[in-house]
Amino acid sequence: MQDLATNVTQTNDQSTQSVSAARQYPWRPLALSMLDLTSNRKRTRDFLGTRANFIQDRIRVLALVFAAVVLLWTTLDYFIIQNKETVIRLAVLRILCAVLYLGLAYYGNKPHNLPRARLKLASLVILPCLFYIASRFLLEDAGALGALMLYTFFPFVVVVQLAIFPLPLLEGLALAAPAFVTLVVVEAHFASLLSLSFLGDLTLLVLLACLALWASMSELQMLLRLYRQATRDPLTGLFNRGAFMERMQLEVERAQQNRHELCVLLFDLDKFKRINDDYGHLTGDAVLKTFAQILEQVLRHSDLTGRYGGEEFLAVLPRTDTAGAEQLAERIRTTCAETPVATRDGGQLHFTTSAGIARLRQDETAEELLLRVDESLYQAKEAGRDRVILAA
Ligand code: GH3
Ligand code: MG
Ligand code: MG
Repeated sequence: MQDLATNVTQTNDQSTQSVSAARQYPWRPLALSMLDLTSNRKRTRDFLGTRANFIQDRIRVLALVFAAVVLLWTTLDYFIIQNKETVIRLAVLRILCAVLYLGLAYYGNKPHNLPRARLKLASLVILPCLFYIASRFLLEDAGALGALMLYTFFPFVVVVQLAIFPLPLLEGLALAAPAFVTLVVVEAHFASLLSLSFLGDLTLLVLLACLALWASMSELQMLLRLYRQATRDPLTGLFNRGAFMERMQLEVERAQQNRHELCVLLFDLDKFKRINDDYGHLTGDAVLKTFAQILEQVLRHSDLTGRYGGEEFLAVLPRTDTAGAEQLAERIRTTCAETPVATRDGGQLHFTTSAGIARLRQDETAEELLLRVDESLYQAKEAGRDRVILAA
């Protein structure tokens, strides 16, 4: 418990230290943020879901554009390639490719699903690589080497398209790899890996990959920043009211569909106005931060926590029955009472919380559930505060 009390001061200390470190080593923030953008390791499930939606939206637009371009290109083939049989074979290949692109655009989109978004991204990369390899064989066999000029840029397009997706470095490298493999395989088969033209192509591909991945990482950083600003309460770091309500609605719908248990907890800090009046608003803020830390420490990663209003907090516990919810609410309540918060004059204060609990009923809406949990919190206040009451 003592850890929590000192946590807030420690956070302040850490930020002072990081400011002086930034002065000493100006390159450090850039290096740290780049390191932070190498993988998904530190990202929350919610952010990964938001990123997955973003990626799937972009894949849809890009796949539609490519489907149209790959079909329209047949006109160019018709004028450039003398052997009409090759034009027909290429057209069949193009139609197949366009159908697959349309499939990518319209089928299998699953909101908040990162594995699905990754699978689609991999398809978006591998499809043009396969098309390029197949078309090279067709054109080489037909002796239409002049037309090849229009095809050799495929590996470059594959790499450049990555620039419009927010990707961590490792994911970007994995997605760029098929373009390199394709270039090497095709050149090794049709020309020589020691030729100047191959070395020139390889250098250009490396350069484009570096630029595309830099753009992808910057976009990820931007998305992360906007996501935090739009969804998080700046004081406590919990979901803000708007973001919380959206996610709560989804959790309630999911629980109703799958017939899972779901409980909601509503907390209101007791006599909080007096804490502000007696110790000042900054100490009041420290109490709010401490409470948010307690919530996050006691609840599971899969539970949803948010700041509902000033000193009111909500938690949604999916797949939790009333006994489990009561146990958790009690743990939060007792932890609050046992956790001292440092005051600005060097002393300590103690605070308590009241809580309401409600279990989702069949066919109940999120609003109705909130009304019931609000009522039970009111009863906890009426009954003398520092207690947990289960809604009827
Ligand atoms: P009760 O036990 O009945 O809940 O009493 P209370 O004093 O906690 O309730 P009341 O609603 O009267 O007071 C809530 C206070 O919370 C009033 C407001 O100034 C304060 N507050 C709201 N948001 C913040 C904030 O972000 N920081 C600080 N320090 N205080 C806040
Ligand atoms: Mg209140
Ligand atoms: Mg209160």
